[in-house]
Amino acid sequence: MAAIELKGKAKGIYENVVEKNPGQPEFHQAVKEVLASIEPALKAHPEFEKAKIVERLVEPERVIMFRVPWVDDNGEVQINRGYRVEFNSAIGPYKGGLRLHPKVNLSILKFLGFEQILKNALTTLPMGGGKGGSDFDPKGKSDNEVMKFCQSFMNELYRHIGADTDVPAGDIGVGGREIGYMFGQYKKLTNKFESVLTGKGIEYGGSLVRPEATGYGLLYFVREMLKLKKETVKGKVVAISGSGNVSQYAAQKTIQMGGKVVTLSDSAGVIHDAEGIDENKLAYVMELKNIKRGRIKEYAEKFGCEYEPNEKPWKFKCDIALPSATQNEINKDDAKKLINNGVIAVGEGANMPSTIEAIDLFLANNVLFGPAKAANAGGVATSGLEMCQNRIGLSWTFEEVDAKLDGIMKSIFNQCTTSAEKYAKDKTNLVVGANIGGFMKVGKAMLAQGIV
Ligand code: NDP
Repeated sequence: MAAIELKGKAKGIYENVVEKNPGQPEFHQAVKEVLASIEPALKAHPEFEKAKIVERLVEPERVIMFRVPWVDDNGEVQINRGYRVEFNSAIGPYKGGLRLHPKVNLSILKFLGFEQILKNALTTLPMGGGKGGSDFDPKGKSDNEVMKFCQSFMNELYRHIGADTDVPAGDIGVGGREIGYMFGQYKKLTNKFESVLTGKGIEYGGSLVRPEATGYGLLYFVREMLKLKKETVKGKVVAISGSGNVSQYAAQKTIQMGGKVVTLSDSAGVIHDAEGIDENKLAYVMELKNIKRGRIKEYAEKFGCEYEPNEKPWKFKCDIALPSATQNEINKDDAKKLINNGVIAVGEGANMPSTIEAIDLFLANNVLFGPAKAANAGGVATSGLEMCQNRIGLSWTFEEVDAKLDGIMKSIFNQCTTSAEKYAKDKTNLVVGANIGGFMKVGKAMLAQGIV
């Protein structure tokens, strides 16, 4: 865990979280990172301390854990574990993705759910925080097996969610295919066609721009961030990790803004294409990953560039780094390599991809740093726009949704710089800005609603 030391009240709250949630290091890390930066806001608002807002914030309102039995293509019974963490509903129905990955556990889902509370608050839309998923591994499974799993998962989840209660979305391992199977089963079980999931197909209530939203939103945020140094994306060398949903559309928007994407990766290794990944090469990646469900190594074989197994992108020289794969993928050593190679900005596409020590290094070395809960909020914001369209029964055009997304990312950035300036006396400290900006909104809502 990180070197930073908490003091006073924050230390006590953190120790209590560690004691009450043993064996959940990712959750501890997410709480510590927030506690380390919200102290100035707590000092300015003693009413929060009296009402124990922070102590309540770190305790999920509800955690649901359940058995997910299904039958594979060989007729064998398989059993997975399903979860939904309904963390905080102070400002709206619980909202946050479902992750399907063999490493999913309560620690990971609680860190994600906790982050989601503050992220959703920053989006300007009325959404509480939640997260869920299962240790099911979609890799190597047939469509039929994925469908069987999704249906069984929904057989339990449906009784806990609803358009005004809890509205899950996609995350790692959950894209349009999985959302479709889950939505179909929800409808069958409840006889209701309602906005219970986002990331739906465009034919049945989905929103244009939702697939692109997290990656595009990340670049809109990075564009704003670069203005602090009077810089733009144009002409910059950009390293991206991952090759899934967020990475693909972060790469696409980078290319559209005139940047040069030189890396992509997956859990097996990284490709480095010094000539740059252009629109055509990216189209190949999208087909490889979304349709053929292949490995990024095949890109190197096709285009004849470097491939390094079991490596991450951070050793390659770049101006902008966009970690967009998974949590804790940039540690202290990775951060040092990026800084030594002259990185000027880091935008977090994934959730908590940088360790606390890595973040401290970036801030200490004057690297512009866009924390996940602000920089990748475009996905959930567009999910909020999908819910909005479902409520009014209309579909907005691509341009309309994209313009709203851009506006929301600018607003998130402005909230971050305003809070950073007020509480850290440094408008470039977007970590403090995002944490306090989100916290103040949720804290005030919790205060207004009494001890519930
Ligand atoms: P996808 O499943 O589409 O892609 C995930 C990518 O990350 C894949 O390339 C995967 O490689 C790689 N990856 C996963 N685990 C590891 C690992 N341990 N080491 C290295 N690479 C890994 O997921 P998304 O793109 O949707 O999500 C990526 C990140 O962005 C997550 O942190 C997610 O929480 C976050 N996020 C996603 C949002 C969304 O709208 N989708 C919204 C906000 C945040 P492989 O195929 O080998 O597993």
